[in-house]
Amino acid sequence: MKICMMARNPGLYSHKRLKEAAEARGHTLNIVNTLRCYMNIASRRPEIYYNGEKLTGYDAVIPRIGASVTFYGMAVLRQFEMMGVYPLNESVAIGRSRDKLRSMQLLARDGLGLPVTTFAHDPSQTEEVIKLAGGAPLVIKLLEGTQGVGVVLADTDRSAKSVVEAFRGAKVNILVQEFIKEANGSDIRALVVGGKVIAAMQRKGAEGEFRSNLHRGGSAVSVKISAQERQTATRAAKAMGLNVCGVDMLRSARGPVVMEVNSSPGLEGVEKATGIDIASQIIEFLEKRAKPNKTNTKGKG
Ligand code: ADP
Repeated sequence: MKICMMARNPGLYSHKRLKEAAEARGHTLNIVNTLRCYMNIASRRPEIYYNGEKLTGYDAVIPRIGASVTFYGMAVLRQFEMMGVYPLNESVAIGRSRDKLRSMQLLARDGLGLPVTTFAHDPSQTEEVIKLAGGAPLVIKLLEGTQGVGVVLADTDRSAKSVVEAFRGAKVNILVQEFIKEANGSDIRALVVGGKVIAAMQRKGAEGEFRSNLHRGGSAVSVKISAQERQTATRAAKAMGLNVCGVDMLRSARGPVVMEVNSSPGLEGVEKATGIDIASQIIEFLEKRAKPNKTNTKGKG
């Protein structure tokens, strides 16, 4: 196969591993800098150019689109899809996963366990929203935050109200969520590839920290997950339409609740914690599935 990977930093662990794995299995994998791709949007002959050359002959594309370049990255990926190149994850599915509210609505529609989550646009409804989420302690999250930045724990209704008002004053979108205390500062990340959980790790926050993000000093270990957790992860991937994703769950008293579904999961933490070669399994998935014009949506919707 000839594979194209859209990524801005070829030196990242995940990107290096995917390239290595593809080459070890006899494929060619070229990395293109997403922001340096340019396109011609002409009727019936979509094209993408990179460094003065037309990108042609690709069997598959691996989108590794950073959150900050979602808008342009999705346009480039749609163009690949319109050219009939098989995407590891489709642009439409990535678009869903990048919007936290839309993701939660899709997961709720499919009956998946979620933390009670509320949001409102109008500041006059702050108290109602806090009440609806079950009252303090509450977690307040920036919709555009990543790696735990902009995730705040408010212990009392009063502090929750001040945090909501402060975020609103800064004109950022937020959601207010039930605090899952029994998760004990840890969460589960399940790696789903082609409808199966192939690895799972438990992340635990640093001492005194309720956020378990590895970027915030958390640590990760391999974990055996329950059948219910496994099923929750695969159903979440399906609801989003993602072939490959990381499903973040909290262990709540009423079973697993999904916090987030990540369409470009990092491989370093989970490969190191579990010793599982995830990169090769992703390439293997492409070997089985990549066929021209097999995209479900071809960038529609
Ligand atoms: P980000 O997408 O920025 O990583 P998350 O929503 O994943 O933000 O939250 C960061 C961390 O905070 C999670 O990994 C989890 O450990 C903790 N956390 C988030 N939401 C809750 C919640 N509702 N209850 C308990 N802990 C939470």
